[in-house]
Amino acid sequence: MSRIVILGAGYAGMAATVSLAARTTRRDDVHITLVNADERFTERLRLHQTASGQQLADLRIPHLLDGTRVDFVRGWVTAVDPDARTVRIDDERSLAYDRLVYALGSVADTTAVPGVDDHAYTLNSAHDAELLARRLAGLGNGTVAVCGSGLTGVEAAAELAERHPALDVVLIGRQEPGSTLGPRARAYVHGALARLGVRVLSGAEIVTVRPGAVDLAGGDSVPADLVLWTSGVRVSPLAATAGLRVDERGRIVTDPTLRSVSHPQVYAVGDAAAVRQGYGVVHGTCQSGMPTGVHAALSIARELTGRQPGRFRFGFLHAPVSLGRRDAVVQFTHPDDSPGRLCLTGRPATWYKETVSSSPWPSFARLKRFPSVGLLAWRRGGRYTR
Ligand SMILES: Cc1cc2nc3c(=O)[nH]c(=O)nc-3n(C[C@H](O)[C@H](O)[C@H](O)COP(=O)(O)OP(=O)(O)OC[C@H]3O[C@@H](n4cnc5c(N)ncnc54)[C@H](O)[C@@H]3O)c2cc1C
Repeated sequence: MSRIVILGAGYAGMAATVSLAARTTRRDDVHITLVNADERFTERLRLHQTASGQQLADLRIPHLLDGTRVDFVRGWVTAVDPDARTVRIDDERSLAYDRLVYALGSVADTTAVPGVDDHAYTLNSAHDAELLARRLAGLGNGTVAVCGSGLTGVEAAAELAERHPALDVVLIGRQEPGSTLGPRARAYVHGALARLGVRVLSGAEIVTVRPGAVDLAGGDSVPADLVLWTSGVRVSPLAATAGLRVDERGRIVTDPTLRSVSHPQVYAVGDAAAVRQGYGVVHGTCQSGMPTGVHAALSIARELTGRQPGRFRFGFLHAPVSLGRRDAVVQFTHPDDSPGRLCLTGRPATWYKETVSSSPWPSFARLKRFPSVGLLAWRRGGRYTR
């Protein structure tokens, strides 16, 4: 029996699980176990919607796995032992594996700036976003500081301002909002934020978050009744503690096939993996995470039949950014994620963004039946990844 354990049922872990289940459906000698903190699938792409008070669909992982022979274990992974090839769940249970797919994702980095852990809200989980929604509902016309002017910060600030027009929303960060987009898309983001009444403080270095204020380098403070932290990325320390080779951010360093360079029985996918392409290490997105999951599944299926896993190649296609529910901008990109010439704005962009955000769950259902479909779903990057 080949025991395959997949840790994390986010975008990458789910893609790996259903693809692998479909590819091994006729094999009685393969047993797949999926471990996740929650039975409910977290649509991270939409957590700013949850935070603004919207109800998301109730997507149940065991329901999606109906008809597969995957065992779903709800629990919190507390340790990985790559030498003994076991993982511990909730400190009590132990699961043995022959191959592991590590897909535990990432969270916003709340450790880099003093006070963030104690005084700021995050969009790290559905629970965190719901806590924020409850607090916002009672805030009246108070001030919300959204810290971090990357695309998550932009989407959150726009969503909160649109849904709670009485709130004073201020977006604080080092870069100007939309700095990774081309000039047209960036200007559009600025116009949309202004229309929604979001105040923008860019070029700001946040040094402390304390109750009632965000302190900036240089001595200024921004009064805030509530702080939302979206800046930076942090991964679970589990991989580093386990002795797997990790990069300076704690992500598992992978070979070109997505196996850990130190422990080849471990595949690393999604935000938790440092996947190198010709243009650099792929930064964590759903866009890249799902392909890593599909690829890991294909590679494991190949290994199970005595073949070699293939090389992973990935190029970015787009950066779709919601600006509330009625507006959006989509920047089409080069495979290395630098902005291309094309962008969509307004209604077509809103439709495009919604289509992209709602596609993962039906894609998992499709992959469960037709795993090869997954291989058509991403750009290989041409000369950028050759
Ligand atoms: C508000 C917001 C908007 C975003 N918008 C976009 C976007 O528009 N486009 C885009 O491409 N990306 C976007 N992202 C980034 C995207 O969500 C992530 O890159 C993506 O979720 C990574 O997928 P993953 O499967 O690696 O991790 P995740 O989706 O985070 O899944 C990890 C899973 O592992 C589980 N887990 C973690 N630790 C443990 C543990 N110890 N034990 C058990 N279970 C555990 C978690 O509960 C979760 O289910 C956005 C992120 C946020 C927060």
